[in-house]
Amino acid sequence: MTETITTEDTRLRERWTTLAARAAAAGADALVISAAADLAYLTDYADMGLERLTAVVGAVGDARPTLLVPGLELARIPDRPDVFTAVGWSDDTTPTAVMTQLIGEAETIVVSDELWASHVIDLGHRLPAATLVTVTDALSGVRSVKTPDERDALAHAGSLADQVMVEIQAGRLPLVGRTEAEVADDIGTRLLDVGHDQVQFVIVGSGPNSASPHHHPGDRVIGRDELVLFDFGGTANGFNSDTTRCVYTGPIPVEVQRAWDTLRQAQQAAVDAARVGAPLCEVDAAARTILADAGYGEYFIHRTGHGIGLEVHEHPYVTERNTSPIEVGNAFSIEPGIYLPGRWGMRLEDIVVIEDDGRARRCNESDRALISVPG
Ligand code: ZN
Ligand code: ZN
Ligand code: ZN
Repeated sequence: MTETITTEDTRLRERWTTLAARAAAAGADALVISAAADLAYLTDYADMGLERLTAVVGAVGDARPTLLVPGLELARIPDRPDVFTAVGWSDDTTPTAVMTQLIGEAETIVVSDELWASHVIDLGHRLPAATLVTVTDALSGVRSVKTPDERDALAHAGSLADQVMVEIQAGRLPLVGRTEAEVADDIGTRLLDVGHDQVQFVIVGSGPNSASPHHHPGDRVIGRDELVLFDFGGTANGFNSDTTRCVYTGPIPVEVQRAWDTLRQAQQAAVDAARVGAPLCEVDAAARTILADAGYGEYFIHRTGHGIGLEVHEHPYVTERNTSPIEVGNAFSIEPGIYLPGRWGMRLEDIVVIEDDGRARRCNESDRALISVPG
């Protein structure tokens, strides 16, 4: 399997080169990239996320960066000389001291969003003349520009989540008389059955609970003639799914159907507005205007969407204020909602990726209708 390893190494090296080049173009001399998805993006190494520092450290001109790890973790670092040099720091030294040796007299240092404040402050003390900038400011959109392979991975993850949603919409998952938590457990199991490696979250909000966008499924028993909101996602091959649909456990009241029709129209308008070059706020405005014109403006209480990739929420964010232009390879959710406190809430969510033709391709294709399921 040497060939696979070589391909993967090449991919990781390209990511470092791109990141370092963007940092240099933004005027930075060095990078300190730590934690979770940012670290895994460059090294394919999943650190434990504890207080001991693990970070990719390098000057912008370095062909290969250093992976600085707690000494005791060196044994589990894969040998990837083409991608990074692993260096361990011991418990009787300070990791930022080793770090400053590696990056020398850097004046502007890019640090990743999730580098612990304790390390950032310590780094600032050690290099008082240096300016620290966040990876987001200096490098908007390295991870947020997905390669064709990464877009396909998102589409694949989306199709897995759709399989579970289709079962719910077909009425194959019993709802009425069961608690939200029981139904959420079933959904988690199904997400793994269909091929996700990990479940990230499952929201089941019934009746008035559907009006709380991030409702935690609890012991409320789902009744007849209620709206039930499902929002869930998992990870497959490193990339995440995230989709929302609603069902009604009985005949759909006219008022609810009318709201849904407006919501669906708003979501479609936002997908149509998601084109390369358009500012992200126009995607938000496309959905928000339709909801506001229909009188639901004050009941749409969140942004229209979030980027998605190695993490469920990442850049770019689809908000009223984000004027950044959409780029080929961006991937984000489009998920407007209407929430009437104490009564019901609804949301319709698909992930889209921006393809080379400049248009949005949906990663979710389950029925976008509000479906009445047997009570
Ligand atoms: Zn959310
Ligand atoms: Zn969601
Ligand atoms: Zn989402």
